Amino acid sequence: MYKNDLDFAQSLDKADPLKAYRSRFFIPKTHEKEVVYFCGNSLGLQPKTVKNHIDIELEDWANMGVEGHFEGRNPWFGYHKQFEGPVSRLVGALPHEVVVMNALTVNLHLLMASFYNPTPDRYKILIEGSAFPSDYYAVESQIRNHGYNPESSLIEVIPREGELIIRIEDLVDVIKKEGKSIALILIGGVNYYTGQAFDMEAITKAGHEFGCMVGFDLAHATGNLKMKLHDWDVDFAAWCGYKYLNSGPGGVSGVFIHEKWANSPEHPRLAGWWGYKESDRFKMEKGFKPEYGAAGWQLSNAQILPMAAHKASLEIFDEVGIDALQKKSDQLTGYLEFLLMERMNKQEEKNFTIITPTDPKQRGAQISLLALKNGKELFNKLTSNHIIADWREPNVIRVAPVPLYNTFEEVYRFVEVLFDKI
Ligand SMILES: *Cc1c(COP(=O)(O)O)cnc(C)c1O
Repeated sequence: MYKNDLDFAQSLDKADPLKAYRSRFFIPKTHEKEVVYFCGNSLGLQPKTVKNHIDIELEDWANMGVEGHFEGRNPWFGYHKQFEGPVSRLVGALPHEVVVMNALTVNLHLLMASFYNPTPDRYKILIEGSAFPSDYYAVESQIRNHGYNPESSLIEVIPREGELIIRIEDLVDVIKKEGKSIALILIGGVNYYTGQAFDMEAITKAGHEFGCMVGFDLAHATGNLKMKLHDWDVDFAAWCGYKYLNSGPGGVSGVFIHEKWANSPEHPRLAGWWGYKESDRFKMEKGFKPEYGAAGWQLSNAQILPMAAHKASLEIFDEVGIDALQKKSDQLTGYLEFLLMERMNKQEEKNFTIITPTDPKQRGAQISLLALKNGKELFNKLTSNHIIADWREPNVIRVAPVPLYNTFEEVYRFVEVLFDKI
């Protein structure tokens, strides 16, 4: 179905219903030349409307000072509420199941304060092997803070000997074996390193059969994959805003908390005034009464400037819709895989292996290449040819063709350069 030639790549671009979206983003340049930007899984590109949205808030602050909380064009008091619609549509949630606040690792801690409640019989946390370092640090410190030891309390599921990705059946087997002692299952919806997407519904189901809490770190999944967090009965999730969500460096994070926890003031949580029942917040009374839903987990008043950037980006996602994005993404990453396989099959000496699963259901907009030799030289060659990918020690090149702004022609050019003689 795919062809390895430039005309074909260009014809896919011509037929792409999302092709106009590229012009809504600033494409970085090196030496006056637009780069091929395949790092949208690390820091998404800037929507051109970001500046306008931030300017509105700067002007209202300049012109109104504190009155902006209630009189601004987008009153800051309820600024976060603008995100309920677009974010819930993006992750498959009910509007009151999501809130935008803080940064990702902070939110992971807040969520663990609520959903990791170890007892002497049930105290373990299960994560996927090669999880993002911040997630390791967060879960290990949570375990220690509760007086347990990560050596005996942290379970990592890893690929089988000689394999590169985790088999879902192995993950489920561990849950079956250890489930009764597991307090929390916390998995990256898409692993940042391998690009493997996990079957979140199956993991949630398996965990719940044994009474475990099940949460997901969706840093690499939100804005990348279509999800149904509510229907899958996921207990909680969090993600950052600056990867596929294009909301700028250090951008705000999003949180999902299932409706079944929405109205349980007795459930443990770390509270702050912005999570207080909205109608009574300014009575400034003692005794915390949470707002209904995920909003009741807020601590501080909203970070308006980064949220304005987030708003600009979410407008684009809401316009495109995750179905259309997922469709193009499958095709774009599928084309990348096809071209890589074509070249690799023709090579006398193998240079690469693809780590990322070949099953489109088990991946998003990313392919991780394991370089078998000269990895760093190959990566440097990409950079000097205006291609921005991501290098992970000791020998992995991560490539993320993002459906909102990358093209089939860019995918084609990338593979041409990669397989050019050094
Ligand atoms: C990017 C990423 C983070 C980063 O955490 P911040 O708190 O936003 O700095 C954490 N976990 C995962 C899985 C990530 O991919």
